[in-house]
Formats: sequence, C-alpha cells, structure tokens
Amino acid sequence: MRALIIEPSPTYQRILSRMLESYDFDISFVDTATAGFRAMRSHSFQFVCVAMYLADLTGIEFCQQVRADEQAKDLPIFIVTSESNPELLSSALAAGATDIIRKDDLPRLEEALHALIPLGPFRYNISGKALYLEDSLTVAKATDAKLKRLGLSMDHAFSITQALELLQHNKYELIMTDIVLQDNETGIDFIKQLRSESRFQQTPILAVTSLESINRRILALQSGANDYISKPVLDEELFARINNLISANRLVDQLTRERQRLLELATKDHLTGLYNRHFMGEVAKRRFAEASKQQLPLSLLVIDIDHFKQVNDQHGHHIGDKVLKRLAEALREQFSEQDCIARFGGEEFVVLLHQCSLADATTQAQQLCERLQQLKPEGIATSVSIGVTSLNPAQTEYFDEVFARADKALYQAKQSGRNQVVAC
Ligand code: GH3
Ligand code: MG
Ligand code: MG
Ligand code: MG
Repeated sequence: MRALIIEPSPTYQRILSRMLESYDFDISFVDTATAGFRAMRSHSFQFVCVAMYLADLTGIEFCQQVRADEQAKDLPIFIVTSESNPELLSSALAAGATDIIRKDDLPRLEEALHALIPLGPFRYNISGKALYLEDSLTVAKATDAKLKRLGLSMDHAFSITQALELLQHNKYELIMTDIVLQDNETGIDFIKQLRSESRFQQTPILAVTSLESINRRILALQSGANDYISKPVLDEELFARINNLISANRLVDQLTRERQRLLELATKDHLTGLYNRHFMGEVAKRRFAEASKQQLPLSLLVIDIDHFKQVNDQHGHHIGDKVLKRLAEALREQFSEQDCIARFGGEEFVVLLHQCSLADATTQAQQLCERLQQLKPEGIATSVSIGVTSLNPAQTEYFDEVFARADKALYQAKQSGRNQVVAC
C-alpha cells in the first residue's frame, strides 16, 4: 500500500507519518505539487494527502489537475488544512477533493481512510498474542501468517495439554481452537476446560469448524466459545471476527476497570485510601446483623489524634497530611483483613473489629496506642486517644448508638490527659 503526502511543513509531515505508522503504508513525502505529479507518474498510490497551499499550486488546483486524468478519477485525495473558509472548502470539494481534513481534527483522516480503502487487516488496531490449538501444522502456519498481518503473533499447540501448558506462561488476547483434534481430543473439551477456570472466563475464544458441521458449531458456542469461523477461512471474515472479539473484550476490561475506580471513589477516603464514613456505615449494618444473629462478639474503636491542630500549625498542612497517611498505614498494619478500618473525619479513625470481645479490643487498642507513640511519623511525636466499646449481644443495637458510646469513651480519654484508652 502506498500513500503520497504533499505537505510543505516538516512538522505536519512528521505528524501525518506518525499517525499512519501503524497502517504499514509505504509513504512518499513531497513538498510541491510538481514533485507530487512526478511521484504519481512513477508509482500508483492508494490515496493522497495534499496541503491547501503549496509553493507551486493550491490543493484545489492540484485536485482539478488530478481529476482531469480519467485514470485518477477515483483516487482518494484528502486536503489537509487549517483553512476554515466554507466557500474555499466547498470549492475544494467541487474540484474533486474526496474530503477535507482539518489540521485540528486529524483523527478524521483515519476514519476517512477506514471508510474508503478496500478491506484489509490494516484497518484494525490489534496487537498482542493469540493461541491456536490445531492439529494440522499446515493450517496453523497459514493462520499464523494471516494473524501476523493483523498484528497478532501466534503460539501454536497441537494438543490440549500443550495448549494448557502455554496458557500457564503466556497471556493471550485471543484463543482459537480447531474442533476435531488428534487422539480423540476435541476443541469442545478444550473450551469447556477453559471456561471452568475463572481466569479464562473472559478470554475471547474463536472456534474454527468445518463448514458442514452445524452441530459442532452450536456445541462450541454452547460450551463457551464466543464465536466460530468455518474452514476454509476467508481472510476478511477472520479479521473482522477477531477484531470484534478482541475489541469487545477490551471494552469489558475497560468497563471493569472503570467500575472498580468508581467503587473506590465511592467507598474510600482520598487521602489515606482507608474506607470512608459512608462505607463503614454500610459494612457496620451487615456486621451488626450477622453478629447479633450468630451471637458473635463485635467491637468498635474510635481513634482520634491528640493535638493534631498543633501538627498543622507547627509543620504545615502538607506535613499534617503525611502524618495522617503514615498513621493510616500503621492502622492497616495493626489490624486484620477482616476488620474494617475507616477514616471517619479529619483526624479521626474508626475500626470495626471482627469477632472481637471488649477485652481483646481494649488490649489491641492499648497496643496501638503504644505503637503510634513510638512511630514518630515525619519525625513528629504523635499520640492518639481511643474509645472502645462492644456490641451488646443481648439487644438489637444500631451503629449510631454504638458509635456514640465509643465516642463518649474517647472523650473521657481526652479528658483524662490523652494518649490513652478508655473502654465502656
Ligand atoms: P484533640 O487532642 O482535642 O483531638 O486536639 P486536635 O487538635 O487534634 O483536635 P481539633 O479538633 O481541635 O483539630 C483537628 C485538626 O485536624 C484541625 C484540622 O486542621 C486538622 N485536620 C482535619 N482534617 C485534616 C486533613 O485532611 N489534613 C490535615 N493536614 N489536617 C486536617
Ligand atoms: Mg483438526
Ligand atoms: Mg484530635
Ligand atoms: Mg477530632
């Protein structure tokens, strides 16, 4: 595939070249219409991009001259310009330009190319690796060549065992499988095995079936293949199906990541990464119900940094933030995965201690108090006061009541001189 770019600005030559890099075009750059015509006499091009203003002609005159040649009447010509004068642009179209691409909207050139240029693998933006389980080496080799054109490298396995071995050590964007394999193995068995493992639940699987075996195709889909393609494989169909599978999978990945991000935003505290007050309320509701139903102990700590205002006043808010982060880390280190730790407000933290009695919670709180006193985050001596309480198993209690009790204990700890634990 050849493309001709007639563009006097080296900067735009570079930008266009980078943009078209992934398409595997052989690009000729020239900076005048005269040089463009010369290039067109010695090569045939799949499309031409021309600037509006050249040293010898305008892009419009260039179009007129190209279109005057009967043979070049279908050649796509894109005028790439920062010009926005509508009259000028419409006269460019009248002169035979296929489309006008604004320099501030270059991605439109890609769209225009996709719409214009005959189908081919270059229109897909695919990379990565595919695994192909296929007992015929000839078929595998031919497919490998096709996938390469599409931008995918391919690992080939002859048997299910070999395929599973490769899957242990590689990450694949796509798994393709033949249906009838050697030694009584089938692609259907392979697909079923893959889908039974959670890590392969989402990997796109393309079954390659022979044309006549409708039942096998249905079986492949029922077993968890996302799609099938019939042998003999048509290149364009293969490319389109693979592209659909991989893009859909990427979209799912993207949505999963986005969902995860939103969940974090909604449930976590920005500064420390601990849970936020809202999420703690949600967790508490569930844990309280569970604890009273199963008569299990459950305790709550309310932790408040002593004289934290002074830290900000003496060292600045930025250092104050660092201290908060370091203390949050220390909380994560002290408590187990099962315990829910939240930043409740400014310099106040709440910990819900899973299956933990008042006595055990008090011991843990005392240990924490001592540890934090020794921690000296950012070299600053800090201490905390902690209020501890437990859920009363004899009656139905709500989080707010239990929290208020622990908070009252905290208040007493502050009143009694700080850097201590009060349980009630
Ligand atoms: P006490 O021992 O009575 O708890 O004294 P204190 O100074 O810790 O309590 P007070 O409630 O008077 O002040 C809390 C301070 O916490 C005031 C506020 O500037 C600071 N603070 C709250 N949120 C943040 C934050 O996100 N970053 C920083 N750096 N400081 C914060
Ligand atoms: Mg076979
Ligand atoms: Mg405080
Ligand atoms: Mg406070």
